[in-house]
Amino acid sequence: MKRGKLVVYTGYSGVGKGTVMKKLRELDDSIRLSVSCTTRKPREGETHGVEYYFLDKSEFQKLIGEDGFLEYATYCDNFYGTPEKAVDEMLDNGLNVFLEIEVQGGMQVMKKRPDCISIFIVPPSFEELERRLRGRGTEDEETILKRLSAVEEEKKYQKYYTYSVLNDDPERAAREIIDIIHK
Ligand code: 5GP
Repeated sequence: MKRGKLVVYTGYSGVGKGTVMKKLRELDDSIRLSVSCTTRKPREGETHGVEYYFLDKSEFQKLIGEDGFLEYATYCDNFYGTPEKAVDEMLDNGLNVFLEIEVQGGMQVMKKRPDCISIFIVPPSFEELERRLRGRGTEDEETILKRLSAVEEEKKYQKYYTYSVLNDDPERAAREIIDIIHK
C-alpha cells in the first residue's frame, strides 16, 4: 500500500484551524488528525483521547524519556507532543495524517521527516484574529495575552513553511489544502 502523506498543519491561536480541519475531514476521508498529548487542562467539552490525551507533567516526561514523541514543545507554559507510533501506523495504512502543531514542533518534524508537507494557516487580518480569540470565550485575559504574544513569535516561522493558506472561508481553505496534499 502507498504510504500516506504527513502534513504539518500550523496556524496562530484563534485562526480557525479547528474549523478548517473539520471541513477537511468532511470533504476527504483519507485525512486523519493525530491526537496529541498535552499537560494543559481540558476545556469545557473536551474529552481525553478525542481532542488530546490529557496527561500530568510526570506522565508527559516519562513519554519523553521513552522517546515516544515525533516532536514535542512547550507553548504558553504547557507541554504538547505528537505520539510517534500512532502517526506511523496511520501513514502505513495509506492515510494522510495531519499534525495540528505549533511552530517549534513544526520545525522538528520538517527536520526529522523532510518529505512532510508543511502548511501555515493565516488570518485575513490580525485584528480579526484577536477578535476571534476573544470571541471564543474559552480563555481568561492572561491566557489571551500570552497567546497574542505567541503570535508575534510564531510570525517569524511562517517563512519555513512550504504553503500559506488564507482562512477567509473554512470550506474554501479546506479545498485549497486538499488540492495541495493530492498534488
Ligand atoms: P490549544 O491549547 O489551543 O489546544 O493548542 C495550543 C497550541 O499547541 C496550538 O498552536 C496547537 O496547534 C499546538 N499543539 C497542539 N498539539 C501539539 C503537539 O502535539 N505538538 C506541538 N508542538 N504543538 C501542539
